[in-house]
Amino acid sequence: MNIKNRITRSLLVIGALGIVTVSFVLTRCAPEQRQRPNIIFIMTDDHAYQAISAYGSNRNRTPNIDRLATEGIRFDRCYVTNSICAPSRAVILTGKHSHMNGVHDNHSRAFDGFQDTFPKRLQKGGYQTALVGKWHLKSTPSGFDYHEVLPGQGAYYNPDFLRNGEMIRYYGYNTDVTTDIALRWLKEDRKKYQPFMLMLHYKGPHRQFTPNVTHAHRYKNDHIAEPGNLHDNYENRASPARDQEQSILNHMGVEDVKISIPEPQRMKFHQRSVLKHAYEPKKAAEESAKLAGEELVSWRYQRFIKDYIRSVDSIDENIGLILDYLHEAGLEKNTVVVYTSDQGLFLGEHGWFDKRFMYEESIRTPLVVRWPEVIEPGQVNDEHLTSNLDFAQTFLDIAGLEATGDMQGRSLLPLLRGDSPDSWRESVYYHYYEHGFHGVPRHEGVSTGEHKLINYYTLGEWELFDLKTDPNEMTSVYDDPSYAEVQERLTAELAKLRTQYQVPPNDKRADK
Ligand code: CA
Repeated sequence: MNIKNRITRSLLVIGALGIVTVSFVLTRCAPEQRQRPNIIFIMTDDHAYQAISAYGSNRNRTPNIDRLATEGIRFDRCYVTNSICAPSRAVILTGKHSHMNGVHDNHSRAFDGFQDTFPKRLQKGGYQTALVGKWHLKSTPSGFDYHEVLPGQGAYYNPDFLRNGEMIRYYGYNTDVTTDIALRWLKEDRKKYQPFMLMLHYKGPHRQFTPNVTHAHRYKNDHIAEPGNLHDNYENRASPARDQEQSILNHMGVEDVKISIPEPQRMKFHQRSVLKHAYEPKKAAEESAKLAGEELVSWRYQRFIKDYIRSVDSIDENIGLILDYLHEAGLEKNTVVVYTSDQGLFLGEHGWFDKRFMYEESIRTPLVVRWPEVIEPGQVNDEHLTSNLDFAQTFLDIAGLEATGDMQGRSLLPLLRGDSPDSWRESVYYHYYEHGFHGVPRHEGVSTGEHKLINYYTLGEWELFDLKTDPNEMTSVYDDPSYAEVQERLTAELAKLRTQYQVPPNDKRADK
């Protein structure tokens, strides 16, 4: 169908809506707009780069995410600005740090949907916009032609979704259901004459890492590799590492290791039966009761990491279905597919199972982008410091649209093209605000990728890490005189970034 016929058909369908609508359709059907790329922005919840084989995982395989990396570009130094779910999403939508977008933590405030966001800008700029899956920002999504989201964290089994505000219960496993909704929208509901931006945001593999019944028996007799610092003793660092409440030994719940099956009230009888058969909760409780110390940590680690990678398996398989659809529909070449997570996660590193700290496994997030018309396949960018702060401007740049003047990131489009900009950021700023969950105090800091300075300002404690000699962050060199110059330089850099990003004075009594 040529462009004239497309317009004619559109006019026939909606002609009765009047002159304003007609001009709207004509604008959206302009030839230059039809050629703009589609965007599928896939984001998972808590998917650590350590559990992606493209990033060298020694624990699992992720062939479809790997395929995106092989056919596109993998970023090795992508960092989040605040390592927790809702704040990360607010940063991504607005391109602004938490203190600017108002979502400091998961609990205190709903996202102000009147703010400018990249989906709103894409929508105004002629893109059809959709959001499917996890939202987690409390307020009603704005800037989307279609949204079907999980209320709150959502359920792994037989989940409820809010479709443009109407509650619908589905039967099945969350990751499968989320994909089915997205595929239905892609195949049947979207308007084929408009470029689209789909945010496909999975709940998995968030706690309690619950797998599909079809995957519950996988890896049962396998031994999954442990991280080298699973039994960290927390010496040589500031007190928060020792005093946190996210250790596998002391704070992991019975649902995390399936001594108790999560969400039993939501499951159908056969779903519960399959999981009980797979986990043998009573036997597991007896087995673990005989263990203590490092043996107990290792036992719990095996229980939870297997569920984690089972959950990741479902994610990866479902991404494969999305990629298959793009291929079959002839959309592969001019569709940008982005894969990322809302932040990293400790998979046993430091003996932990959550995030929040400004340590690498928590703040570094996977970022893989495929766009066959623009990105040379098989690229790895291990040079540039990138951030979830950059995503909004990147999407707008890809669509040929202007960012708002107060966005604080930078478009990654030159890096996607393989260009090397004359100047790039030399450090990233981090600020974690939520206190009370998992016992991690407020802190801020700066990382250059080589050195990292952390200020636990409510405690008056600092850490400095040399990431080249100590990539696992086991020894703070803050008090080491040989690092005095580095400490001085990073202290100045932190002050510079606070000014650049307009960070208000820290509330030093916030955690008291
Ligand atoms: Ca998360």
